[in-house]
Amino acid sequence: MDIKFSVRQSKKDKDVVEVRYDCSCGCHPNARYRRGSADAAHEHCCCGIAHFAGADAAAQLERYLSDRRLQGIDPPEREYSVQTSNVRAPWGEELAVAYAIPKNHG
Ligand SMILES: [Zn+2]
Ligand SMILES: [Zn+2]
Repeated sequence: MDIKFSVRQSKKDKDVVEVRYDCSCGCHPNARYRRGSADAAHEHCCCGIAHFAGADAAAQLERYLSDRRLQGIDPPEREYSVQTSNVRAPWGEELAVAYAIPKNHG
């Protein structure tokens, strides 16, 4: 399953970009990434799909998923299929996007 991400510049702050997609569950998960930040932004949808956008997105997604397992938020048997993509920020930078889809996702 491929997710098509779109980018929107924040109206209030032009150094903030909203990386979002239309989820099959009906939500519009939106990760707000600030230009130059070392931390990727993320949002976890109600249906279990998590996405990260910005610096180091893939590594931060992996860390997030393993923390959830360690803390017992995710059961140990839950598996995600992790994929990466990228989008172009309004200021011209290529931003990494990483997302995780639970294996049992319908
Ligand atoms: Zn939802
Ligand atoms: Zn969803």
